[in-house]
Amino acid sequence: MAMVTGADYLKRIAQLESTIWIDGEFVKGKSTEHPAFKAVLEAKASLYDMVLDDAHADILQASDKNANFSFEIPRTKADLTKRRKATQLWAQSTLGVLGRSPEYVNTMIAIMAGAKDFFAEDGKEYGESIQSIYERAVKNDYTFTHTFVNPSISRKPFYPDGESVEQPVAAKIIEENEKGVVIDGARLLATQGGITDELLVLPSAAFVDSDYLFGCTVPSDTEGLLFLSRPSFGKETQFDYPLSATLEEGDAVVVFDHVFVPWERVFMYRNEWLMSQLFARTGIEAFLLYQAANRQIVKTEWLLGVAQALVDTLNIGQHTHVQGKVSEVIVALEAMRGFVYSAETQAQANEYEIMVPKLEPLKASACYFQMTYARLIEIIQLLGASHFISAPSKKDFASPIAGRLERFMRGEYTSAKEKTKLLRLARDLSISEFGSRQMLYERYFFGDPVRVASGLYHFADCQKQKYVEWVQTFLKKMD
Ligand SMILES: Cc1cc2nc3c(=O)[nH]c(=O)nc-3n(C[C@H](O)[C@H](O)[C@H](O)COP(=O)(O)OP(=O)(O)OC[C@H]3O[C@@H](n4cnc5c(N)ncnc54)[C@H](O)[C@@H]3O)c2cc1C
Repeated sequence: MAMVTGADYLKRIAQLESTIWIDGEFVKGKSTEHPAFKAVLEAKASLYDMVLDDAHADILQASDKNANFSFEIPRTKADLTKRRKATQLWAQSTLGVLGRSPEYVNTMIAIMAGAKDFFAEDGKEYGESIQSIYERAVKNDYTFTHTFVNPSISRKPFYPDGESVEQPVAAKIIEENEKGVVIDGARLLATQGGITDELLVLPSAAFVDSDYLFGCTVPSDTEGLLFLSRPSFGKETQFDYPLSATLEEGDAVVVFDHVFVPWERVFMYRNEWLMSQLFARTGIEAFLLYQAANRQIVKTEWLLGVAQALVDTLNIGQHTHVQGKVSEVIVALEAMRGFVYSAETQAQANEYEIMVPKLEPLKASACYFQMTYARLIEIIQLLGASHFISAPSKKDFASPIAGRLERFMRGEYTSAKEKTKLLRLARDLSISEFGSRQMLYERYFFGDPVRVASGLYHFADCQKQKYVEWVQTFLKKMD
């Protein structure tokens, strides 16, 4: 099988019998027909069709043509370049807005399999587990969501208050036998939870003992697995909500109600030392950030297009502060491109012969974009001002007031309808529920910005020291 069409993908997801609760209701029947999930699944299906399209095959298929690019383990810098182009091509078709296109988690599975010897340090069975998880994913062209954050009842850093042996809050191992382990408790937060083939569970960094340290995959319709999805921000009318209507992904709390996981699906188990090394030594941190930064480049290109289109349509480009605001978007775009090129040109093969982009610029890109995205959205708001509030709806244009709209709401060079389409798009990006969730996503999907910045501070320590010594040498000469 190896590479599926969009239709095959949808057929497979329709057969999943995941337990999903959304807005107080149990999702009955096919998720592919549910109003909360239908649109995003179709958007993902179109990504699979692109892979099989001859026009894109060179970029979107792995070099051996047996899988899509996300499963290819990069061995050379040319492989990285190809991966960058592929990620950006998929992102262009979803405007950089779809956070979880299949390659985000697939890449993690591929890189972990490439570094299977890392897991085998704890026993060869763990190396074999990650390898067979990878092979199954490639063979079936799977998609995953993932979860690695413990829910916390209080803001205590490592221990979720209310935890008890009988009723754990954070998902933990409560039993093990010769066949596998039993997990009970919850994790947050799985974007697209319940509507991907499988769920990747990574060991949580916030643990009190080894009961919380496990890495595994489970099919989304595993018995006892529940996805508590937030109410959908999706909308029906594409004219009024062009993004909410097409790219709303959903996010779910994941509950493990005595979920049994067979040993052959467990690739990390109760090993604190390996857990502490997982992200850096295998290379998955760099690859996750590399995927994210490439998607964010495309998203910034899209935002630049929206910003300039607003400037043209509202005819406000003569004001220097407006020019300055669009320039800020250009600066963000060039900065993001710079981070990626820096990471790519400084890439080095790791101990598993995986060509890993340099982590430091990518960590910097994560810090930068977590904060900058909010400013980019603010710029869209400042350019659009009250035009977003007065923008009419599709129904207005089909009503008796349409003529008045054409008279009062048109642009200098555009019809009222054309102008409204742009305003509704910019509005959906910047002030809708969907747009606000995008802001939270860019801030938090890789972790809390404060702690991500703190991670960079500590990671860059050796370089900081080098520059401190430079300054000290200079100071000595001043005596
Ligand atoms: C839209 C969206 C989608 C997501 N999708 C996924 C997904 O698919 N898979 C997944 O695993 N995760 C996902 N996440 C979760 C993401 O990983 C977490 O949001 C992130 O790790 C931060 O954790 P938290 O939300 O629990 O915030 P908290 O850790 O509770 O932080 C809340 C606030 O308290 C402060 N704070 C808390 N503790 C500390 C501390 N020790 N030191 C300093 N400040 C502190 C933070 O700075 C922050 O301001 C998603 C998040 C969002 C918003």
